[in-house]
Amino acid sequence: MSAKKANLSGELKKYFGFSTFKGQQEQIIENLLSGKDIFVLMPTGGGKSLCYQLPALISEGTAIVVSPLIALMKNQVDAVNGLSSDDGVAHVLNSSLNKTQTKQVFDDIKAGKTKLLYVAPESLIKDDYLDFLKEVKISFVAIDEAHCISEWGHDFRPEYRNLKSIIDKIADVPVIALTATATPKVQDDIQKTLGMADALVFKESFNRPNLYYEVRPKVNIDKEIVRFINQHKGKSGIIYCLSRRKVEEFAQLLQVNGINALPYHAGLDQKVRVANQDKFLMEEVDVIVATIAFGMGIDKPDVRFVIHYDFPKSLESYYQETGRAGRDGGEGHCLAFYDPKDIEKLEKFLAQKPVSEREIGLQLLNEVVGYAETSMSRRQYILYYFGENFDPVKGEGADMCDNSSNPPKLKDATADLNEALKLIKDTGEKFKSKDLISVIMGKENAVTKSYKLEQTPHFGFGKEEKDNYWKTILRQATVQGFLQKDIETYGVLKMSEKAKKFLDGKSKEPFLIAEDREFDLSQTK
Ligand code: ADP
Repeated sequence: MSAKKANLSGELKKYFGFSTFKGQQEQIIENLLSGKDIFVLMPTGGGKSLCYQLPALISEGTAIVVSPLIALMKNQVDAVNGLSSDDGVAHVLNSSLNKTQTKQVFDDIKAGKTKLLYVAPESLIKDDYLDFLKEVKISFVAIDEAHCISEWGHDFRPEYRNLKSIIDKIADVPVIALTATATPKVQDDIQKTLGMADALVFKESFNRPNLYYEVRPKVNIDKEIVRFINQHKGKSGIIYCLSRRKVEEFAQLLQVNGINALPYHAGLDQKVRVANQDKFLMEEVDVIVATIAFGMGIDKPDVRFVIHYDFPKSLESYYQETGRAGRDGGEGHCLAFYDPKDIEKLEKFLAQKPVSEREIGLQLLNEVVGYAETSMSRRQYILYYFGENFDPVKGEGADMCDNSSNPPKLKDATADLNEALKLIKDTGEKFKSKDLISVIMGKENAVTKSYKLEQTPHFGFGKEEKDNYWKTILRQATVQGFLQKDIETYGVLKMSEKAKKFLDGKSKEPFLIAEDREFDLSQTK
C-alpha cells in the first residue's frame, strides 16, 4: 500500500477537523500504513473508527470494512461521505442494492473513488462480490466489532468465523481488527481465528472512572427504583429488564408513579420504537425501560443512571450496558439488582442449548455471580475481567463503588467451607446445591431419603445458620474455583483440584465472605 505517513496531523485536520489524535490513534494508523497487522482494544467512544477511516482516506485503493450491522454501516457511510467533497468515497455493498446501485459501487471502486467499502461478512462470501474484489486494489481490511468472531464475546456471529479464509482469497493486505471487548479469552480467540497472533496490539484502559457501581439485593425492587429515580429527578436514565413483558409492565408502573418513562423492545411496532427512542434522545422523556435491544449505537452523552432490573448474562454485557452512562464524563450511577434465583433461571435457559454454548454460558454466569457477591472493589473486579490490573486504593475512580464507599464486613468462613467440602467429598460428588443444603440443614427430601443421607454424620451439621448462609458458601466456593457445576448433569457440584488441596490442608488462604450481604431474602430458614 502507498503509505502517506508524513503529516498525519494535517490529514486529520483536513478530513475530521480535529487538531490532535486521541489516545494511540496516531501510532495505530502509522503502523497500519506501514503494512502491519493491528489489533485494537478500546472501550466504546475511544475513537476506533478513525483508526481505519483516516488511513483508508489517504491510501491508494479501497479499504474493506467488515461490520456486523447494516444499520450501523449506513450511519458510518453517511458520516464518511460527509467528510469529503468527492462522491462515493464510502459505500455499502450488500444484497439490498439493486443492479444499478451495485454497478455504481463497482464503477466507483474501479475508478479509485471509493476509499471505504462496508460489507457484512455474509455478503463477502458471495461469488460475484469476491470475484470483483479480487481484481481491484484493496488497501487493507478492517474488521470492526471483531469480538463477533468469538463465542466468548457477547455477540457471537458464526459468519465471522470464516473471515480469515475469505480475506486471504481477496488480497494479501494488512488487517486491522477492532473491538470494545477485551477479555483475555476473546482477545486470544480473535487473534487465533484471524491468524493474527503476531499483530501489534494496542489496548486502552477500560476504566470508566466517573461511573459509580452498586449492587443491591432484589427486594422491594419496584419501590427502590421509584425512590432512586425520584432522587434523580429530571435526569436521563435507562432501566434494563430481561423480558419484553417486564419492560412494558415496569414502564407502566413508573408512569403510574408520575415518572416520565417509556418502553423500548424489539417487539414494539417499529414506529413506536423509533418514536420512543427519539423522545429519549430529545429529552422529552427521562427514563427508558428497555430490553438489551436498546442501546447499540445510541450516543446520548448525559445518561445519568443505568439500572439493571434483572442481572445480565455476562459481565461483558454489563460493562457495555452500563457504559452508556456518563459518556460526557459526568455522573453515571450503575445500579444492578441481584437475586440468585434470577441466575438459576438463566441457568435453566442454558439447559436447552448445545453443550459448548452451555459451558460458556455457565462460566460467564459464574463471573456475574462473582461480581454481584464480591466484597472487593467492583471496578477492580470488572477491570480484572478485562485483563487489567487496577489499584483499588489509588486507581482512578477507586472510591466509586458501594464496596469502596461502604466496605462490607468480612467473615472468615474457612471452617464452614471445610465442612461443606467434606460433605461433598463423602457423598461422592453426586448432588446439586439444593440437596446439599437440605443435608446441611438436616431437612429431609426425596433425594436425601433415597440416598439415605440422613444416616451420614453430616446431616444437619449447619442448622444453626440460615440456609441462605450455606447457599452463599456454596456459590462463593464455586466462584472462587473450589467447586464446579457439572454441565452434563446440570448443576451437580464437583470438587476441583483447589478443593482437594484445601481439604488436604495444603491451602493456607482463608476463605472470606461478605458478612452482611444476604441476597436471597425471600427464602429464609
Ligand atoms: P468507538 O468506535 O471507539 O466507539 P468512535 O469512533 O465512534 O468510537 O468515536 C467516538 C467519538 O470520538 C466520536 O464522536 C468521534 O468523532 C470522536 N473522536 C474520534 N477521534 C477523535 C479525535 N482525534 N479528536 C476528537 N474527537 C475524536
